[in-house]
This record gives sequence, structure tokens and C-alpha cells, in this order.
Amino acid sequence: MPWNRPLIIGMILLLLALGWLRTNSGETELVRSSRLLMGTIVEIVVSGQNTGQLEAAVDDAFAEMARLDRLLSRHYQDSDVTRVSQGSKGGKVAPETAEVVALGLDVARRSNGAFDMTLGRLKTLWGIDQENPVVPTQEAIAEALEGVGFRALSLEGLNLVKQSPQLMVDLGGIAKGYIVDRAVVVLKNHGITSGAVNAGGDMYLLGQHPEHPWRIGIQHPREQGGILATVQVRDKAVVTSGDYERFFEQDGQRYHHIFDPETGSPARGCQSVTVITDSVALGDALATALFVLGPQKGLELLADYPGSEGLIVAADGTLHPSQGWADYQSAP
Ligand code: AMP
Ligand code: MG
Repeated sequence: MPWNRPLIIGMILLLLALGWLRTNSGETELVRSSRLLMGTIVEIVVSGQNTGQLEAAVDDAFAEMARLDRLLSRHYQDSDVTRVSQGSKGGKVAPETAEVVALGLDVARRSNGAFDMTLGRLKTLWGIDQENPVVPTQEAIAEALEGVGFRALSLEGLNLVKQSPQLMVDLGGIAKGYIVDRAVVVLKNHGITSGAVNAGGDMYLLGQHPEHPWRIGIQHPREQGGILATVQVRDKAVVTSGDYERFFEQDGQRYHHIFDPETGSPARGCQSVTVITDSVALGDALATALFVLGPQKGLELLADYPGSEGLIVAADGTLHPSQGWADYQSAP
């Protein structure tokens, strides 16, 4: 199934990680675990000296992820996101929700609305995840865009304020990244200094192998199981957004899950975008924003974020790396 493909990225990560850990284990213990969370398989790999400590850290990291998912997902009736979407003017949210929304609003502003957390109704209308999705009519799309847009959502302290009652919040472009960041904090609090968390292409690589940094294979957007590029990182987020993650085809056209807020239809400029930066939340929001902006404007936006690099695969398959991308690229 197409929406399973990001898992391949995870498998590649794990293979690289395990390959290293097996060949160099010595005294090093390895704990590896995966759970279904946030609609994807989340994988955690940690290494250290004490298996009990590693297992406790992984359990706590998963528990934190599940807790945050219940705040930030549209799929729970009592989540912050659902409550705010149902309230006519918005509502009070948890500090964690406010934190992720604040970062999202900043990326929304700096991307001039390419990143937009108000597209909940549009997402429901397209129903990309549903069994038999069809392309909606222009009238239905226009209706789903009424009263929305990145300026229609704001934050006043812990109050999430909506400009129109029908606005439905969707944090699908940023929440997973934020949740991975928080899992990494839990691991660090347990004293973990080497590991990886991967939520379907939203990854953080903590610490490094004694001799070289983590090596990550990035999924090729058109070759199932193929690797587009390999990067080496240490204490970095590596986040990929792609049109191959969730999509359907109609009349030979691919309709995927990343929407251009200006048209209300899937963005057409890219096949995939990978961002390397310090936090997974930022990488997640930026990868989605760059995908909407396309290669040229996308790289311009990325240049506004020092310490962030990216690789964009344009709709025609051409590669557009940012200036410092080559510093991370390694031999496969
Ligand atoms: P990602 O895989 O991180 O690129 O996120 C895609 C998800 O973000 C979609 O499934 C939607 O929930 C949401 N989304 C779609 N288009 C946008 C957009 N233009 N801005 C922000 N979030 C979006
Ligand atoms: Mg994203």
C-alpha cells in the first residue's frame, strides 16, 4: 500500500544502524523497539551499557509520544485539536499544544502561508486516507477554503483563537516532528547518548558511533525501496515529506496529501523534500512548507534558517540541494 512506503525509510535507517551495532558491538547493548503510533510505525533504537536502563528509556519515550498524540491528533474526540476545531472561537490548549502551534505559526508567516494549519476541512474533503478517495469538485474545494488561511489562526497565551467558526485545525504537518523531539528529550533524561527515533520519515539521530556519525538512507520518491541519497549526521533531525507517502491516482494524475493552500489541491512542485536541521518539529514544518513552495522558493526560504539544509526533488525529478547539503552527503 502506498502509505506504507515511508516505513521503508525506517527500515533503511534500522539496517544501517543495526549493521553498525552488530559489527562494532563489543560491550555495547542495543535495544530496538517499534510501535504503531500517530498512524505510522515509530521505531526507536538506543545503545548503551545497561539494557535495563535502555528499555526503561524506550518505554518512557513511547509513553510520552502517546500522551502528546492524544493532545495533538484530530483522531481523538477529546484532543486539544478537536476541541479547538469544534469551538466557534477556538479554546484554551495545553502548553505543549501552544508550543507546537507557535512554531507552526512562525513557519506559516515566514513561508507566506505555504505552511498552513487551518486546512482540516480541506483534508477531510479530499479524504486521501479513505478507502475510495475521489477528486472533489471546485465548488467543494472553494467551500472548504472559506474562512481559512494561516492568518485565521492565532495564539494568545494558551488560547488558540480562530477567526471563523468552521475553521478546523490540522497539525498533521508538524505534530509528528514535535512528538519525536519530545521522545528524544525523554531518552536524554534517561542518560541515553546514542540512538535514533523514526516516525515514518521524521527522524532524530542522537549522538554518534565512536568513529563516524549516523548514516541515513533517504527514500527515492519514485523507486520503491531505492535510496536517493545517504547522509551522515550527529544530533540532527532528518525529515522527509513526499508525494509517495499517501496518495491516490485518478485519470493518470497523482493526488497526494500535501496541499497548496492557494489552490486547495495537492501541491505540484515537488516529489519529495528532505530537511536536515536541529529540531524535528522545525524540520517537519519546513519540509511541508518547502514542498508547497517548490524548489526555487523553497530553497530561498530554507536559506532564512541558518543551520538548516535540504534536498528537494522537483516534480520533473531534478535534484535541488541547498548550499551546505554536500557537507552531510556521504557515500552510500
Ligand atoms: P508532511 O508529511 O509532514 O508533509 O505533512 C503532511 C500533512 O500535513 C497532511 O497529511 C496534512 O495533515 C497536513 N498538511 C497538508 N498540507 C499542508 C500545508 N500546506 N501546510 C501545513 N500542513 C499541511
Ligand atoms: Mg511536515
